[in-house]
Amino acid sequence: MDLQAASKDQLQQWAQQLEAEYETIKAQKLGLDLTRGKPSAEQLSLSNAMDGILDGNYSDDAGTDCRNYGGLDGIAGARALGAELIGAPASNVMAGGNSSLTLMHQAMSVAYHYGLNGPESAWNKQEKATFICPVPGYDRHYGVCEHIGINMVTVGMDANGPDMDAVEKLIKEDSSIVGMWAVPRFSNPTGVVYSDDVVARIAKLGNIANANFRVFWDNAYAVHALSDDAPQLANIWQACKEAGTEDSVLQFASTSKITFAGSGVAFLAASDANLSDFKKSLGFMTIGPDKVNQLRHVKFFAGDHALAEHMNKHAAIIRPRFESVLNHLQAAFGNNELGQWESAQGGYFISFDTQPGLAKEVVSLASEAGVKLTPAGATFPYGQDPQNSNIRIAPTVPTVEQVDEAMKVFVCCVKLASVKQALAA
Ligand code: PMP
Repeated sequence: MDLQAASKDQLQQWAQQLEAEYETIKAQKLGLDLTRGKPSAEQLSLSNAMDGILDGNYSDDAGTDCRNYGGLDGIAGARALGAELIGAPASNVMAGGNSSLTLMHQAMSVAYHYGLNGPESAWNKQEKATFICPVPGYDRHYGVCEHIGINMVTVGMDANGPDMDAVEKLIKEDSSIVGMWAVPRFSNPTGVVYSDDVVARIAKLGNIANANFRVFWDNAYAVHALSDDAPQLANIWQACKEAGTEDSVLQFASTSKITFAGSGVAFLAASDANLSDFKKSLGFMTIGPDKVNQLRHVKFFAGDHALAEHMNKHAAIIRPRFESVLNHLQAAFGNNELGQWESAQGGYFISFDTQPGLAKEVVSLASEAGVKLTPAGATFPYGQDPQNSNIRIAPTVPTVEQVDEAMKVFVCCVKLASVKQALAA
């Protein structure tokens, strides 16, 4: 389907065929959903053995009674699990409650109101505080910034991660910049793994930025590869040590998409100085995390390869769904200009770009045909995709057959919207 080269007659013929196909799909009254970036019930069931695993024994290795209050840092075993996920020393990892998003919100609030390096470092001392947001990205990150009152500027993402020339330029030119979001492995939604060069350049930002600059390194998909040959991520902790910028990066992760999405354990890894200031504030918010749940996780992942073996089981469930999406996209758009995407090798999403101006139309056509997609624009700050082209596809929850069905509809909607746009031009 080469829309540029096609004659008006040819375009009209395609439009008629696609309208007919679309009407047939609509008549089926489908009820499919590609919106939810969450584990399927089958994935959640992989962790059912956590239930009852303590069997009445609530003490951790140090003899702490995990039922009681205390231990702001989390129990040692959980911190070690976080260290394994994040790739930082356990002594610099805190194990918290069930949500890394909560930790990110708390860390950003503390940095904004109280400072992560004494009261003078609080971002609200500046006239304006701005975060760099690589786009497309994760809508809840933008929500945290908006909620706290932090301004957002965007930089593009490519197959290697954020456009680092743009990031460095912004930092040099705009003193209001206090931080940057990053989802470095199997990014939400593009599935991209940041290249070694991008990781090294992010680690060096602390040397050119405002002293209070912090990268929020959200490694939500650190171990969520779909196959053994998926790209690895360079270790930012190590890179920061080499660059002398340990204070400039806060790392987050959780077991939300490893065990139970609503009952996992979240982690924060940071320099001694950052952790110390963060904990001063955290101590006003809680007496300590849910250590019983942390202990359940520690017991569940006891053994050298337990985590890797567990993630292989997740991959076996998710892989066919991703393959279905990618096969449909390749077959329909591999040889034309109608769409672009990254072949995600892990994570929870595939990000698709239509021709400029069509994302909303495609989402609306799909919705009318019984396939729910994440609203167009959600992957950009303030819900504004300037190109109106990005659509996030989340295939983990539906069955493989449902993904297959939904992707046929998706492809039809993209083609229909594209042909109609070409006809109107
Ligand atoms: N970060 C990213 C990039 C995510 O995609 C998600 C979940 N969709 C989260 C954080 C939420 O993690 P948690 O459940 O630990 O709050």
